[in-house]
Amino acid sequence: MFGKIHEIYDSISGEGISQGIPTQFIRFAGCSLRCGKVGDKKLWCDTPYALGPEQGEHKSLEEILAQLLQNDPHHQKQIIITGGEPLEGKNGLLTRSLSDHIYRFRIQEQFPYPASRIETNGKEEIDEKPSRVFTMDYKLPGSGMESEMHIENFEILKKRHNSLDEIKFVIRDRIDFQRSLEILHEKKPDTNILFSPVHEDLDAKELVEWLKVANPPKSRLSLQIHKFLWGNKKGV
Ligand code: SF4
Repeated sequence: MFGKIHEIYDSISGEGISQGIPTQFIRFAGCSLRCGKVGDKKLWCDTPYALGPEQGEHKSLEEILAQLLQNDPHHQKQIIITGGEPLEGKNGLLTRSLSDHIYRFRIQEQFPYPASRIETNGKEEIDEKPSRVFTMDYKLPGSGMESEMHIENFEILKKRHNSLDEIKFVIRDRIDFQRSLEILHEKKPDTNILFSPVHEDLDAKELVEWLKVANPPKSRLSLQIHKFLWGNKKGV
């Protein structure tokens, strides 16, 4: 089984409930969405260097496991599988096998973080398996990608009932914030809710003011600490 891998690297988790945890990242190449390109606005994707499948190298499950072992011989770090989009097409098959494999091994050996965290864009279907936890985006109008969302994922999240799952809203403006509140009201997810401002489009302090008033259940501001530490540098 093969997938297109852009990079595997060691860092800390930059956002959400796992922020600050030492982490091995596996970044797949390829994503069919193009977030933020609305009217005269620019693409806001953080990883434009991993959007095309040709921006990855063909790697097998065994090659990825060997690299993880080399970077973290004692299996102590959290694993985040990201992209691009790690659940799309053949990359999705590899992501599922990889996370199942890591889970079985870590449970058996009693290592920490048995479930890999999958950062997914909300277009692909998630599942109920405990071998993965999800950071699932819901794309709002400012992204231009809302019509691509797999809305049934909200029901799957409810069935999972996993306290480590999270839904991420990236907020460009007040319209996006209002829409996120509507979605929360309609779907009533029982999980962690992240709000992140679009860098350069919305001041995080303004988003804080909106959150203080609306205060949706289980919500938090999520800023990307890797940007504070290293700017837009790749592979850190
Ligand atoms: S879904 Fe993620 S990887 Fe794809 S374009 Fe949007 S921000 Fe970039």
